[in-house]
Amino acid sequence: MEKLVDKLLGNIPKDMAFPVNLPSKGKFYKSFNPAVGVKVRAMTFKDESNLVQRSNDSNFTPIDYILENCVQGVESDELLSMDILAILFKIREVSYGDDYKVTTECPHCDTDNVLDFKMSILPIKAVEDNIKDPREVHLPVTNVKAKVRFPRRADDKGFITNANNVWRFVESVGDCEDKAQIAELLNDPRFPLKDMKTLLANISLTDYGVGTEAEYSCCNEACQKISTVTMTIGADFFSVN
Ligand SMILES: [Zn+2]
Repeated sequence: MEKLVDKLLGNIPKDMAFPVNLPSKGKFYKSFNPAVGVKVRAMTFKDESNLVQRSNDSNFTPIDYILENCVQGVESDELLSMDILAILFKIREVSYGDDYKVTTECPHCDTDNVLDFKMSILPIKAVEDNIKDPREVHLPVTNVKAKVRFPRRADDKGFITNANNVWRFVESVGDCEDKAQIAELLNDPRFPLKDMKTLLANISLTDYGVGTEAEYSCCNEACQKISTVTMTIGADFFSVN
């Protein structure tokens, strides 16, 4: 007799992978095939149990688990942070539905407002075709050209955590490609703030990616003031909320 697992789980459609619209268009990935794209699968009960069971393990990061297990079409270490967010939002959408509720306190009257973000309609600003990785920037004060690259997940999970780490994302300054010298320059107290800000802005290019800001009108009738909230991925992001 046919086993229950084979009979029922055989009913699950073979292709349960959902394409993700990447802000980077996949332009900067060696492991990416534009004809196939990047796809995600919905989390299963087993995935959710793993996240809960290992939540006290300090070596365990839910986002790493999810990126390593639910994403196809790109090596997760290559991912840029702008794409990581787009991927996580898609996984949330196909696993738990389109809505994610965020509670935020009105800055004018301290009333809690519950806002409903819809994963499928968050605006995506994709990179322009002329953006390269690495790319050249002009440092206005020292008046020299530098070459910077995007942080990737393999670098500290893809985020710049510390200003002392900026040198890691700078490939060259002028014609110097020596990392030790670049680090010395950027960490020198005389290095101009304006140049550092130029580097940081061009490394992250935060204009691109998924828009996570929303305006809302306070629910307190006596207030009703307009404020802006930024959605962040809270502890309940990968569960029903
Ligand atoms: Zn208010």
